[in-house]
Amino acid sequence: MTPFTYTAHPARVVFGAGSLAQLGTEIERLGARRALVLSTPEQRAWADRVAAQLGERAAGVFDGAAMHVPIGSAREAREMARHLGADCAVAIGGGSTTGLGKAIALDSGLPIVAIPTTYAGSEMTPIYGLTEGGVKRTGRDPRVLPRTVIYDPELSLTLPLGLSVTSALNAIAHAAEGLYAHDGNPVTALIAEEGLRALAAALPRLVADPRDLDARGDALYGAWLCGTVLGAVSMGLHHKLCHTLGGSFNLPHAEVHTVILPHAMAYNAAAAPEAMARIARALGLAQAADAPLGLFELARAHGAPTSLAAIGMPADGLDRAAELAAAAPYPNPRPLERAALRSLLQRAFDGQPPQH
Ligand code: NAD
Repeated sequence: MTPFTYTAHPARVVFGAGSLAQLGTEIERLGARRALVLSTPEQRAWADRVAAQLGERAAGVFDGAAMHVPIGSAREAREMARHLGADCAVAIGGGSTTGLGKAIALDSGLPIVAIPTTYAGSEMTPIYGLTEGGVKRTGRDPRVLPRTVIYDPELSLTLPLGLSVTSALNAIAHAAEGLYAHDGNPVTALIAEEGLRALAAALPRLVADPRDLDARGDALYGAWLCGTVLGAVSMGLHHKLCHTLGGSFNLPHAEVHTVILPHAMAYNAAAAPEAMARIARALGLAQAADAPLGLFELARAHGAPTSLAAIGMPADGLDRAAELAAAAPYPNPRPLERAALRSLLQRAFDGQPPQH
């Protein structure tokens, strides 16, 4: 076996339908007494409900979470936490809300309880992001890792179907890239394959009935595993491309992951045959099947967007995107070649199937 180093990140996970009811006990367990509850404006009612459930243990509600954590909202939330004397924060929502919790923790060291309601997986990673002057800065810091995560599938029943599918594919992307990560190991590969399998199996059931609690539970379980992989190993071309496209062209996060994934996998396929075989197996395909095509079909069959054009990418931005993607070197199974990346982006823009 190839030698490896594995740093597992500590997190307490409380999983199951109805587990939100345990929030008060979990806060007590952290030794905290005054929780600032965080949400997006769209999920304000959820945050109010959580605050009501906490009663005296709620210090207040901040509903200014937004995509990519704008520095202004992070400062406002940090100030509110200080002003109210909060000794922990509860983030209820998707990656944007978890990200706001992380911004508070980075500054103050406050423990975070994350209650994820999408499949983005941020709650399992020590990765934070902050956006200032249109530029998103990301980093890793163990302080931002949520201390406790409550996964309650009932909370994802309301996730709109379109976002459910793209968010699931966003999670699958963490696992897929994790399978060929230069710093991966046999344990992260196991987690990745199982996470991918659980999400791929849950997708058709979710699409058939978005209120299928069992399918929601399986998807959330898969999201947990995929997030664990994202937190444990380094990502390659796929995540770098999505970061560039999302940041420079303001494309929606889960959708851009959905569109790019099959193409990034096809780019790396020949250089990562074992990862491709594992992806195929997790998708329920024959091991020799074309895994990138399987991912493309998985998105298409479940009504997800398959073209960058459809999600707002300007055609005249493709050259710059290829330039940016090839510019900063990072480990990737196949070397980054500008011309090949440009044609990858063209296929993704046009919604064509991936090509090796
Ligand atoms: P999001 O958190 O922006 O949520 C999208 C919208 O859906 C919001 O309006 C939200 O309030 C709403 N929503 C969430 N759950 C809902 C539910 N169950 N029912 C109804 N509405 C619901 O989207 P996201 O895709 O979860 O997160 C994207 C952000 O997370 C990006 O900024 C991305 O960079 C970040 N992210 C970070 C990491 C990390 O490790 N740091 C990992 C993944 C994603």
